Amino acid sequence: MKRVHNFSAGPATLPLTVLEKAQEELVNYRNKGASIVEMSHRSPEYTEVNEQATSRLRNVLGVGDEWEVLFLQGGASSQFMMVPQNFLNSGRTANYIDTGAWSVKAIKEAKLFGSVHTSFSDKDGNYSHIPTDSELTFADGAIYTHFTSNNTIFGTQFHSEPDGGGAPLVCDASSDFLSRPLKMDKYGLIYAGAQKNLGPAGVTVVMVKKSFLEQQRTEAIPTILNYNTHVNKLFNTPPVFAVYMVNLVLEWILEMGGLQAFVKLNDEKASLLYGEIDSDDFYRGTVEKAARSKMNVTFRLESEDLEKKFLSEAANHDLVALKGHRSVGGIRASIYNACEPASVEALVSFMQEFRKQNG
Ligand SMILES: *Cc1c(COP(=O)(O)O)cnc(C)c1O
Repeated sequence: MKRVHNFSAGPATLPLTVLEKAQEELVNYRNKGASIVEMSHRSPEYTEVNEQATSRLRNVLGVGDEWEVLFLQGGASSQFMMVPQNFLNSGRTANYIDTGAWSVKAIKEAKLFGSVHTSFSDKDGNYSHIPTDSELTFADGAIYTHFTSNNTIFGTQFHSEPDGGGAPLVCDASSDFLSRPLKMDKYGLIYAGAQKNLGPAGVTVVMVKKSFLEQQRTEAIPTILNYNTHVNKLFNTPPVFAVYMVNLVLEWILEMGGLQAFVKLNDEKASLLYGEIDSDDFYRGTVEKAARSKMNVTFRLESEDLEKKFLSEAANHDLVALKGHRSVGGIRASIYNACEPASVEALVSFMQEFRKQNG
């Protein structure tokens, strides 16, 4: 069996050991004569999966049960709406830091529920910059400060938590969650669609701090969109297969040495790739160096024709899914936790060879 070097931005590559374990268990889960996807979500087997995933997630992030862990559906895109629906109303304001397309979508939804103070926007800079704390402004008494930790499309990333201006941070961490430790005491809520760095599509992990949830608005919220509904009990059928896979990925993260091990691995992969990009001007990074993402590495070549040639020759070397997002073009190598160093090494060798032949 041959597996390609997969640089997909999402759904993205998963650890081979996780896929193999799922394959092994899929038809006959632990000798029960049925698959985990064929059992009740209230069965002891699935209950164990759900509880294990919850405790592993807390363990990986170094927090206790002051943090609620929810496995929801609707993608990160639903959280753009669910966060303000739970915490904003016509009398409340939230700060939003605008660092790209995903932030813009979150802001659009928040405005349906309350006031939005834009703490910073790099729209005019084509989202190549990540603000320092001194560039941020805040509304008085804001209920939360929302930011997108990693900008999957543009290839920028906050390298540490921004200041919240006195309000708890709410973070769309879809494309870098569990790539590094977080300063959890700065956050009220963190959400992430699983399909980039956590597992397959179909589940969105939401972590919400109990003390932040007490700030929930008092106006009625549709039952399924109310975080407390899911905190109180397993309200409806969760995406069982996706949660099962996330649980296996969490097990793998712990076996690999936890988040500190991934800081090191992700740093090494990113430095190798950016080192190649910076070695002369054949490859051109698209964002400010200080803002560069360690998850989505974006760059351009001299012309679109040369980029096309690059992509097609890369594919011939089993280096796939390197095309930039349709809204920005260029090349994007997504190198999440599960992207192996050997894949980045193969990409860098190809880049060197391609430069020799076309430079
Ligand atoms: C992919 C992505 C989303 C959208 O996620 P869906 O699960 O498709 O709704 C939102 N935010 C960020 C940062 C993303 O990378």
